[in-house]
Amino acid sequence: MRTVYVNGQYLPENEATVSIFDRGFLMADGVYEVTSVLGGKLIDFEGHSVRLERSLRELDMRNPISKEDLLEVHRELVRVNEIDEGLIYLQVTRGSDGDRDFAFPDPETTEPTIVLFTQNKPGLADSPAAKKGAKIISIEDIRWGRRDIKTVQLLYPSMGKMMAKKAGCDDAWMVQDGMVTEGTSNNAYIVKGNKIITRHLGTEILHGITRAAVLRFAAEAQMEIEERSFSIEEAQEADEAFTTSASAFVMPVVEIDGVALGDGVPGKVALRLREIYLDEMRKVAV
Ligand code: PMP
Repeated sequence: MRTVYVNGQYLPENEATVSIFDRGFLMADGVYEVTSVLGGKLIDFEGHSVRLERSLRELDMRNPISKEDLLEVHRELVRVNEIDEGLIYLQVTRGSDGDRDFAFPDPETTEPTIVLFTQNKPGLADSPAAKKGAKIISIEDIRWGRRDIKTVQLLYPSMGKMMAKKAGCDDAWMVQDGMVTEGTSNNAYIVKGNKIITRHLGTEILHGITRAAVLRFAAEAQMEIEERSFSIEEAQEADEAFTTSASAFVMPVVEIDGVALGDGVPGKVALRLREIYLDEMRKVAV
């Protein structure tokens, strides 16, 4: 049984509870982060903790924990749950004042709720899925307009994954005004020659922590980067495509809406970036 963390306490998972009035439950009034663990160490903890602070600030939500304590909780959960490869899920909600109301409760008297738990994922880095590459469908992006805030409103992305599954595919890319925004739980890229193309940052997409690191490594490896939007049609004609996320790192894409990309196998650039990302991030893991 896992040990989880809830509001300052380490508890067995079956003893951890949150109020039925919690605004995370009633209103999806919460934010989250997912940090991967490789070799028992945290990948890019700094990036995730900075984004958490930003998400909270954008929603006028109080941060219930200091960065130092948050790191300590992450490390303790990795230790007690003996995680070598896996994920740490963190969620902060606006808490509960014991009733339901659209208006926010008084932040002076309502403590945010904080929950962390581990997910054991042996073989996360040496993933068979990454060797095969992902098949993608496109779907309309009908999410709200502040996708740069990492909220727990994940119903539509969940539906997108189900639509992909039903179509015999692995994931979906979302499209708004004819242009790809991002994947259901990752940022989207295409490659043309030596050029990596990915949507520019804005409120339409999550500012991926993995995106930032991968673009930095790509620039260091003298690859050309263009931050602009692209269409599904342009992606289908690209040499290769891939996605990035903290939980899947760099994932090659081999097919979009039934059209195979290049040779229909994971591309060189995606595989190289995956290798560089894993090597470099392991070196600085905490
Ligand atoms: N976009 C969306 C919609 C996501 O859910 C995620 C993963 N949480 C990402 C992008 C990738 O972000 P990160 O690299 O920080 O995991």
